[in-house]
Amino acid sequence: MNVLKFGGTSIENGKRIRNVLNIIRDAMHDGPVIVVVSAIRKVTDLLLDAALTACRGGGDYKEKLVDIERLHTALVEDLLTGEKAEDVQRYLCGVLSELGDVLHGVSLLRELSEKSSALIMSFGERFSAYIISSYLSQEGVAASYVDARGMIVTDTSHGDARVDMEASALQIRERLNNADSIPVVTGYIGSAPDGTVTTLGRGGSDYTATIIGSVLGAGEIQIWTDVDGFFSADPKRVRDAYALPFISYAEAMELSHAGAKVLHPYAVHPAMKAGIPITIRNSMNPGAPGTRIEKLSSEEAVSARPVTGLSSISDIVLLNISGSGMVGVPGIASRLFSCLARHMINIIFISQASSEQSISLAINALQASKAQMALDDEFAVELGSRQIESLTVRQDISMIAVVGKSMSGHPGVSAHLFETLGKNGINVIAVAQGANEMNISFVIDSHDEDKALNCVHESFFLSRRKVHVFIAGTGTISSSLIGQIRDHHETLSVGKNLDIVVCGMANTRMMALNNEGIDLNDWQSALQPREGERTIGDYLARIRSRNLHNTIFVDCTASADVAAAYPELLRSNISVVTANKLGMAGSWDLYETINDALNSSNAKFLYETNVGAGLPIINTLNDLRNSGDKILKIEGVLSGTLSYIFNELRKGGAFSRIVRQARDAGFTEPDPREDLSGADFARKFLILGRELGFRINYEDIQCESLVPDHLMGQMPVEEFLEKLACVDEEYDDMNRKAAAEGMTIAYAGEINGGKAKISVKMLPLSNPVAGLNGTENMVVFTTDRYFDTPLVVKGPGAGGEVTAGGVFADILRIASYLV
Ligand code: ADP
Ligand code: ASP
Ligand code: MG
Repeated sequence: MNVLKFGGTSIENGKRIRNVLNIIRDAMHDGPVIVVVSAIRKVTDLLLDAALTACRGGGDYKEKLVDIERLHTALVEDLLTGEKAEDVQRYLCGVLSELGDVLHGVSLLRELSEKSSALIMSFGERFSAYIISSYLSQEGVAASYVDARGMIVTDTSHGDARVDMEASALQIRERLNNADSIPVVTGYIGSAPDGTVTTLGRGGSDYTATIIGSVLGAGEIQIWTDVDGFFSADPKRVRDAYALPFISYAEAMELSHAGAKVLHPYAVHPAMKAGIPITIRNSMNPGAPGTRIEKLSSEEAVSARPVTGLSSISDIVLLNISGSGMVGVPGIASRLFSCLARHMINIIFISQASSEQSISLAINALQASKAQMALDDEFAVELGSRQIESLTVRQDISMIAVVGKSMSGHPGVSAHLFETLGKNGINVIAVAQGANEMNISFVIDSHDEDKALNCVHESFFLSRRKVHVFIAGTGTISSSLIGQIRDHHETLSVGKNLDIVVCGMANTRMMALNNEGIDLNDWQSALQPREGERTIGDYLARIRSRNLHNTIFVDCTASADVAAAYPELLRSNISVVTANKLGMAGSWDLYETINDALNSSNAKFLYETNVGAGLPIINTLNDLRNSGDKILKIEGVLSGTLSYIFNELRKGGAFSRIVRQARDAGFTEPDPREDLSGADFARKFLILGRELGFRINYEDIQCESLVPDHLMGQMPVEEFLEKLACVDEEYDDMNRKAAAEGMTIAYAGEINGGKAKISVKMLPLSNPVAGLNGTENMVVFTTDRYFDTPLVVKGPGAGGEVTAGGVFADILRIASYLV
């Protein structure tokens, strides 16, 4: 014999109930069947709502009653015909009028006791079981309605009753043994010895099923629900969670106690005691194998993965009782627990540090004020004498449990867990681990619950590790970057198990946001005109409110406003990759604020492309310094435009003509004076100087501008290029003089002893700078180790593809730290 329990969603409408009929017919091939049903989806909530409305007085509850009636009548009309339909309608009418009377009573008294509440909530299962048993009979499957109030004997905690197994077993055997038709039993409800109606707590039909199954020695207890099985985490919260083929009773118990709603927390116990497997199956996908909960052999239990699943409880509060006077005083903990027990307050989580100065307890949020009052009363004397200094209730918190049988004796699980949370900036408020080492529970701010579930799930399971990227700017660098991410997506996901998800893009006019990832083949169409404020602040607020794990902000703009937001991003534990120089080469104040924020954050900040685009300059500099080398001097050319001009000049030709050539070839800004001023070059040297540890500002860089003073100011570019001929002779002379001395001229920078200077200078032909071609950039490091032959980094120092490549490499560097 097998017990089949169907949850509310599985019987939500006529189509689903027809489907249930097929499942039952199939199951009948394997032997006798007992069916347990929940109320139709939403009905228990509606009943509770009606009860609360009635309790406020007046007749408003009648509307809810009409909703309940409509919902069931619609089912009858859909499923039943003829006499059967009439019989069920009559039954509904009678029971609804009974329900109406109870609600009327509550509205008159304006009082809703646990007892009346349980009575009202019991109607849902009575309706559904009656309808389904009648439908089965109509379809030729002999079935009979069984009201569990006559079988499940409980104590008098009406809303969350404990079952008297012995008394219940007698009744169950008497009523269900040798039944000649399929019993369709109301789940969730029972009755106290005084005959009053009780319920087994929300979701209690699962429990009804396992009680019956264990008493009658079922072959299997099948819980038919709306998901493919017991998942590694709630599939509604963790998209990558997957159905586990099997788990042990103990693991299922830990997970359901810690919030896995798929199974009632008490449901495992009877089955475990009787050694009967529970299977979780999807009534909408009966072909799926589901999950088998059973006693596992030790080899099966010790799976390769230490963690089996995660679950979480949201609606809890943390009670904290603390005071130096508690240290070494026996009895405080015992009084605390006894007091809560006396007031029927269930403790979900306990944590006490060995100093004994504080004890933290998580309880259901609905019981918070009751608990606080009871404890204030219990410890009034100690609070008065300040032996206990505070008794506080912290709201808006969640508890997450990480469960796995193989965690025991598997070192490093906690370290891995807390490292993952830390890297994501999730603050852990309290922690508890039982000595069975099967469950590590921790309490965090509710706001971080989904983020924590997702990052912990990714870090322990085989699901792909995600990095969420938000890009600012939609210009050349961004489009090259998106192209590169798209083209390497497959390689990264197969080779590195890494999924780079671009969740956001924005410029000052348009924005696209999608937590699941923007389509990188068509990102332009995803961009929509921005609504509301079109500021970076607004974009950041949207990124922060998503609170996704492993988030990286990528700045591909040249905006000072965006750079000014880095400290805020880092403080929110969002890592930053930037191609924008205005942060690291901004004011000293901003530079310092970014570094302070970075030091107090677990996020990363990378800006390799600020100097020489994709060339590995910052990384080389840091590697040298971190490995103990002393950098004596940095020289270099960090402007593609100026590099080109002087490389051509060396071959001979007029300066102004070469500038014009450079402009025509697209190597300059629209106004070449921006390049000739050396400002951009100077910013890169400023960054290198700061990187070396010097407290310098832009003004401290001695930078020779190649724009004669009288050619500054408003002037069309064409006019400027014509007038620039006035310097041609000067460069000609310099060039000749240099050649005569076996040297060459170059526009290059140098940092030496904290001083940075960029100017036109004469260099020996042996200097690496003299060998530059085209628009190449170069940085030459002279260090203790690289003294006779300096270390040279050389290559293209500008361009969308190479800059994007550098940004992408920075993203991957952060990804490998995060995941
Ligand atoms: P039923 O009405 O069939 O009793 P429930 O809503 O009580 O169904 O339970 C099923 C729901 O439990 C799923 O839809 C899912 O969102 C939730 N759930 C939470 N944790 C888990 C988990 N670990 N595995 C499967 N489902 C889970
Ligand atoms: N109908 C009850 C509830 O909604 C019991 C159950 O679904 O198992 O909580
Ligand atoms: Mg349920």
